[in-house]
This record gives sequence, C-alpha cells and structure tokens, in this order.
Amino acid sequence: MLKSKILGDYEGDKMVLTCARCQHEFSHDISNLILVVGKEATLHAARTRAVCRRCNTRGDNTYRIVPKSK
Ligand SMILES: [Zn+2]
Repeated sequence: MLKSKILGDYEGDKMVLTCARCQHEFSHDISNLILVVGKEATLHAARTRAVCRRCNTRGDNTYRIVPKSK
C-alpha cells in the first residue's frame, strides 16, 4: 500500500484530472481543494470527490500533480 499523500504537501500546485469516461481533462488548484476538504485530506480522497464537468461522472478518473508555474 502506498503511503497516503495529503493535500497539505502540495499546496500551491495543481491537480490535473482526466475523466476515465470521456477523457475530459480538468484541473483544480490544490489551495482551493484545501479550502473545501482540508489539508489533511489525501490526494486520493480529493480525486474520488472530483466531478467531470462534461459528463458529470464522479470519482472515475486519473490524476497527476503539476507544480504551479512561476
Ligand atoms: Zn467525463
């Protein structure tokens, strides 16, 4: 089992999600996710809550973390 990564470790970065159903790509600022679910929430927990804006599928997606560009 992988060690759980928490949002607090990635504050300032972006979570880019790709919907498994329709391949729509969308992103959230991790700072904003922290406001909603808190710093202690895991990346996995945030991913499973993410809703695709195109097909409304919740939690069926893959994600990657993109460091905020300076
Ligand atoms: Zn979708």
